[in-house]
Amino acid sequence: MTAQIIDGKAIAENLLNSIKTRINSRIQAGKRAPGLAVILLGDNPASAIYVRNKRLACEKVGIRSVAYNLPTTTTQAELIALISQLNQDETIDGILVQSPLPPHIKDEHIIEHISPNKDVDGFHPYNIGRLAVRQPTLRSCTPFGVIKMLQATNINLMGLDAVVVGVSNHVGRPMGLELLLAGCTVTSCHRHTKDLAKIIKQADLVIAAAGKSGLIQGDWIKSGAVVIDIGINRLADGSIAGDVDFKAAKVRAGYISPVPGGVGPMTVATLMENTLLALELSEAKS
Ligand code: NAD
Repeated sequence: MTAQIIDGKAIAENLLNSIKTRINSRIQAGKRAPGLAVILLGDNPASAIYVRNKRLACEKVGIRSVAYNLPTTTTQAELIALISQLNQDETIDGILVQSPLPPHIKDEHIIEHISPNKDVDGFHPYNIGRLAVRQPTLRSCTPFGVIKMLQATNINLMGLDAVVVGVSNHVGRPMGLELLLAGCTVTSCHRHTKDLAKIIKQADLVIAAAGKSGLIQGDWIKSGAVVIDIGINRLADGSIAGDVDFKAAKVRAGYISPVPGGVGPMTVATLMENTLLALELSEAKS
């Protein structure tokens, strides 16, 4: 068997085109474009690339992006003051603080200062809570992007035995909640899981989000299973790889997403959709 490759780039491109159409209709109706504030601290090269990709996606769909490139020495109080100002700004619908933050700034603390209505990353405890009680509003971009990718591939999730490897607040945990919402039976694995191979061998759907290249071996994949690789790992030769041994898994899986060109583009497209949704929700309230 050779798996069908899930082309996340093409699916994301379709999503971006549909967002562009929706924003164009707004403009034609005399309404304003959505606004996204992107805050970057320091000069981490990977973060700079992520921020650039987000800015390019904004340009493509017609979202007004406003960049705040701050020095690494920015204090927590200064960052919170900027967020408070953006929370009040009626032309800004989404606020994104690019991670990782420097060690003197507490990630969780910053997220809680972003208004849940402008939390387009979907990281605020309020938005994670909404997802947990099956009333999602702004949903974490990577897990929701994975769901959209699976839907676009016409994979019926109802009743599948799903395994998520990784339980971080931003990725693995909301991914498990998304899959529960979609009707899967979910097992969450992490660094203390006793027998990862045994659990994965039984899964209809494997979602890898550990950040460990080659962690998921090809012969662990059940024949015909769906394999989604969220991991992004930079190898010694400079290339990028996921968490799954792609070559070996491809001959057993029914569907598999590559790295790069799988989940990454879906994350960015979902961020664009969340920004438009944040504006639509605020208009519906006023
Ligand atoms: P993280 O380090 O916060 O969490 C990693 C998780 O993996 C933890 O829950 C840990 O317990 C688990 N883990 C680590 N080693 C393990 C092992 N040997 N066996 C089982 N579980 C193990 O990372 P994160 O922020 O959740 O990101 C995970 C990966 O996803 C990273 O590679 C990151 O770059 C990538 N990522 C990709 C996208 C995208 O758009 N494609 C977005 C966000 C993150």
